[in-house]
Amino acid sequence: MVDIRIKNLTKRYGDIAAVDDISIDVEEGELFFLLGPSGCGKTTILRSIAGFCTPDGGEIYFGERRIDALPPHERNTGMVFQNYALWPHLSVRENLQYGLDVRKIPKKEKRERVDAALAMVRMSDQAGKRPNQLSGGQQQRVALARALVINPDVVLLDEPLSNLDAKLRGEMRGEIHRIHEQTKITTIYVTHDQKEALSLADRIAVMNAGHIERIGRPRDIYDNPTNRFVAEFIGETNLIPGKIKAIHEGLIRIETAIGDLVSTRPCTRKEGEPVTCSVRHEAVQIASQVSGPNVFHARVTSHTYLGEVEQFEFDVLGRTLRGISVGHHPEVERGGEVRIAIAQEDVVVLDDA
Ligand code: ATP
Repeated sequence: MVDIRIKNLTKRYGDIAAVDDISIDVEEGELFFLLGPSGCGKTTILRSIAGFCTPDGGEIYFGERRIDALPPHERNTGMVFQNYALWPHLSVRENLQYGLDVRKIPKKEKRERVDAALAMVRMSDQAGKRPNQLSGGQQQRVALARALVINPDVVLLDEPLSNLDAKLRGEMRGEIHRIHEQTKITTIYVTHDQKEALSLADRIAVMNAGHIERIGRPRDIYDNPTNRFVAEFIGETNLIPGKIKAIHEGLIRIETAIGDLVSTRPCTRKEGEPVTCSVRHEAVQIASQVSGPNVFHARVTSHTYLGEVEQFEFDVLGRTLRGISVGHHPEVERGGEVRIAIAQEDVVVLDDA
């Protein structure tokens, strides 16, 4: 097992900085996610680590070993590509053997390692098939086994589940979690799917336009998004502009167009400053109380039943707020008047205005 250190990595394509002076430390054994919208530079980082792309600047280390100038085959990375990239003319077993042949592994050991890797991804009974005789999920398992069979120092996963349907994606998420727990190989996983990242990651780097907006554990990032990009990209949120009226004994009072909001969350901003508050949809709840801090009079403009939850849209003094509730509210009708409440610890004052 190794840790991965990326120092000041930069890659330009003409005028575009695909990756702009990025530094990341991935710990030994970590399942680390690069999460961000299409084109933000995730794959470029992964390809730079694998050696398929030459950075314009920066350094990459596996443990103490600097690897960014080494050819790909000397880096000992196992990569899973979005389209699996299996050899179509080779059987599943031969696909796995290929990397071991290149490494001149003796026959007996080769057989044992291929068997072990196939067992790990639960594909032992499919070893003789060709990729076009397998389902998407099975191809994905073979791609994963092929990455693992070489005993890599580092596993790199590039949108590994994006070609699968929703049910299979859920299943394979579980599989990747299980396999990572078993192997504990340091892994970098690229995705634009926040659910994949939140459900699997030890830590996530949220990326935007070639740089990192935030690195943290899934719950920290979700609960405390710190800036507007992260708040909007991860989860569903209401962004409410306002101005800080007062900060007193850990209570922050923010003047906004829907009325005063009170927050008990730590805040880097000062009295008098214009700010944006982030309030998650699930933090906006239909209230039984009539008044109190963060209780507002609202009109229901939309109400959608979604099975396990109900979705609401409220008009509060001409502003739209969205809410999600797990409770059933048969009394709430479109056009009806209600009170809504937001817990004080659910109001996050963002670092950027
Ligand atoms: P996606 O999720 O769509 O795969 P990404 O976050 O992985 O996106 P990259 O593929 O790393 O993003 O691309 C980052 C930027 O670099 C994009 O603007 C892309 O158009 C550009 N880019 C990537 N590869 C090349 C290339 N070979 N030539 C020119 N521009 C490129």
